[in-house]
Amino acid sequence: MKKLSILLIAVMLTTCVVEAKDYAKMQIKEMKHAQKYGTTQKVLQNQTQNTEHTVSAVSGIKDPKIMKFGDYDVISKTAYDGKIKKDEVKYEEYAKQLGKKHSKYYTTQADAEDFYLVYRVAEKLIRANKLDYINWRICIYKDVENPNAYSSSVNHVAISTALLDTFRDNDDALAFVIGHEMGHALLGHQKRIGQLVVKMRKMQNMGKMGSPAAAASYLGMKKKFLIDSKNMEYAADVEGAKLALHAGYNLNNASDVLTFLSTFDIDREFRSTHPSGEKRLENLNENKKYFPAEWKEMGEYNIYNSDVMPVQLSSDRKSIVISAPKEKLSSEQYYNPETMDEVYARFGYMYYVNGEFEKSLDNFKELFKINQTNASAYLYASYAAEYLYKNTNNSKYLKLAKEYAQKAKSLEPGNKYITEQVECL
Ligand SMILES: [Zn+2]
Repeated sequence: MKKLSILLIAVMLTTCVVEAKDYAKMQIKEMKHAQKYGTTQKVLQNQTQNTEHTVSAVSGIKDPKIMKFGDYDVISKTAYDGKIKKDEVKYEEYAKQLGKKHSKYYTTQADAEDFYLVYRVAEKLIRANKLDYINWRICIYKDVENPNAYSSSVNHVAISTALLDTFRDNDDALAFVIGHEMGHALLGHQKRIGQLVVKMRKMQNMGKMGSPAAAASYLGMKKKFLIDSKNMEYAADVEGAKLALHAGYNLNNASDVLTFLSTFDIDREFRSTHPSGEKRLENLNENKKYFPAEWKEMGEYNIYNSDVMPVQLSSDRKSIVISAPKEKLSSEQYYNPETMDEVYARFGYMYYVNGEFEKSLDNFKELFKINQTNASAYLYASYAAEYLYKNTNNSKYLKLAKEYAQKAKSLEPGNKYITEQVECL
């Protein structure tokens, strides 16, 4: 008994001494972590590091601006501003629907205000991008803790109150969040994930029933599933940013969402289906450098030429419905995600105006493997090869420049820029 109490005291004494000695050290150690993880620093640092979405074009470079990224006319600022003013009146009018009291489901004023906030942002995204082929449903669900959003079907977007409140005063960020979820739908991610899961379960069950080959295959599929899921997140970020840019939102403010996410995701990177906020931010910043400024003009054209879409409370009273117009048009008249050739042509062009000629040429070469009909692309490929020849003096580039110019000419013999390029070489 005596022995035991002595031991106790001894232990207590050492603990006390160690603790007392370490408070300052512990604090210093913790502050080191704070330098790395502190949210204020991180959020503000990332914001200032953001780049403009347009690339700084190399001055004096040949660019007759004949690369097309869609069919539209440029709307003058006065005309566009006038249209937006008129639209504002309509928004107010339609918003009255949201404050309406229902006999069965009472809608509070607070709900109506939240819905109005989300309605205006989503409506702009829909109109600017011609997404009005279907009724979109936007839900605000009560979650005070987790800033989150998801899309569960092809026309449904849900945002938590925590996320809405975090970005209440940042329409650009809300546009990016809604755009990201719409992006999942537009890119068909729900269906893709569904199919992957079905295949995975099948293998998992066969594995459990005693097939070692199926068990191994299941593990391989699971690994691939996690990679695919992350890639889908990156793609939805890019798609969401595209939609937001078309609707005139500022992508620097939009990426506040990813900056915010990067301050609190823990070691989910390897386990979960989502990449870290940091990696998503890097992916978005890199991609938005190659978004053409024309996308904003195209969005303005679409907004200018369409009417404000009415909003209603949905049957579940937790969402709003933004209604599609009655007449149905063909699928070409609505938004479609970029095709492979469009992506190659865009990167080819954007790398070119950014002075990254080698990368430009690589993308054009990929484009020409699948599509040999784009005269403008051949012309820009010829320009890129010509600059590479000037920079390196390697005759293979001159040969390539001539070849591409000739190809462009055979596709569009009447084009004066192409003729000029052929003669110049
Ligand atoms: Zn997502």
